[in-house]
Amino acid sequence: MNNHPPFTSMGSVAIHAAHALSAAHAHLTPIFATSTFTFDSAGQGMARFSGNEPGYIYSRFGNPTITAAEEVIAALEAFNLTDDVGNPLQLKALLHASGQSAMATMFLSLLSADDTVLSHYSLYGGTHEFVYGFLPQYNINALIADLRDLNAVENIIQQTPTLKVIHLETPANPMMQCFDIESICKLAKQYNILVTVDNTFATPYLQQPFKYGADFVFHSTTKFLNGHGTSIGGVLVGKDISFMRTKAYNTYKLLGGTSSPFDAYLLIQGMKTLELRMEAHCSNAMRVAQFLQDHPAVAQVNYAGLPSHPDAATVQKQMRLPGAVLSFELKEGLEGGKRFIDKLNMCVRAVSLGTVDTLISHPASMSHSGMLREDRYKAGITDGLIRMSVGLENINDILQDLSNALA
Ligand SMILES: *Cc1c(COP(=O)(O)O)cnc(C)c1O
Repeated sequence: MNNHPPFTSMGSVAIHAAHALSAAHAHLTPIFATSTFTFDSAGQGMARFSGNEPGYIYSRFGNPTITAAEEVIAALEAFNLTDDVGNPLQLKALLHASGQSAMATMFLSLLSADDTVLSHYSLYGGTHEFVYGFLPQYNINALIADLRDLNAVENIIQQTPTLKVIHLETPANPMMQCFDIESICKLAKQYNILVTVDNTFATPYLQQPFKYGADFVFHSTTKFLNGHGTSIGGVLVGKDISFMRTKAYNTYKLLGGTSSPFDAYLLIQGMKTLELRMEAHCSNAMRVAQFLQDHPAVAQVNYAGLPSHPDAATVQKQMRLPGAVLSFELKEGLEGGKRFIDKLNMCVRAVSLGTVDTLISHPASMSHSGMLREDRYKAGITDGLIRMSVGLENINDILQDLSNALA
């Protein structure tokens, strides 16, 4: 990491970490739009390839703009944390072209044939398909359980000597279920099992999984980290620096899912307002959740910040604030859902989340419309379920739009 003062907030870290890159003293991190880097001599080329001399070689292996974004994210995830012997926690991040590719690098560098991974219901769709559809093709076994039931988890661990990784996503769509990272990590550690966390919905500002013992974290940076919906990206972060530099880095280079310098630049700019944005996102989300809870057209609100949410205590324990994604159930089912969506005037009809504008989707008629109703219900996606990523518009405008659409 760069030499910088001990900052008192993540907001300052996001603005100032990884900032001195340009010989021309550019204020902002430049976009190094170059596929390759030059060597002064054969000897230098050799030294860089062997790792004896630091320096860039080819942009799929690394690029200065990408490094800057990686250093910011590592600094945020490590903010104010210490390692086992009390030194500031060191993390290494690898920036990818998408959340999916960060997730793929993670699982493919950690698992090999005959290993087993355990995860939970309601994973992000792409992760679910990768773990339960793709990995088994390579004889990597995948089990599923409710990871809130620690007795069940321990039983599975004891019956599965090949279990290598427990993966969790918290909070998770669509019910915003949350898992107790610390309890799961404590249990996993007793059996030498690694714990990986998808921290996309929370961002390091709201939740730092390494604080609770997680071994690896990944994000879709497409969402709240970028914050403005300007590019697709992902990041893998690990505390085993040697593993990150060897096995994970090699997998990253071979799969080739490296970020582009331009996307890294957009991400760096977006992250500078992370603290401000997350505070405002969460404050708007709480107001929206309360409004919906009191509305006669709404049967149920799933927001981890409401005291009625089944995982509210877990949120209190491990999150600074409960996030800005929620879902709610309309009393009038499929037709009610479509009518509500069509009547919105300001909120944007779109999938994805974590942008400055409020995004609303109706999974039954959109993202999950190809699924059998019965399977959809098993995944918790009922006919009248609406998914909402609460944005940064003035709260009165958001409530006004919802109120009109629900009328
Ligand atoms: C979007 C998302 C992903 C996948 O990320 P991409 O950037 O779309 O590849 C993974 N996990 C969660 C929780 C997400 O929201």
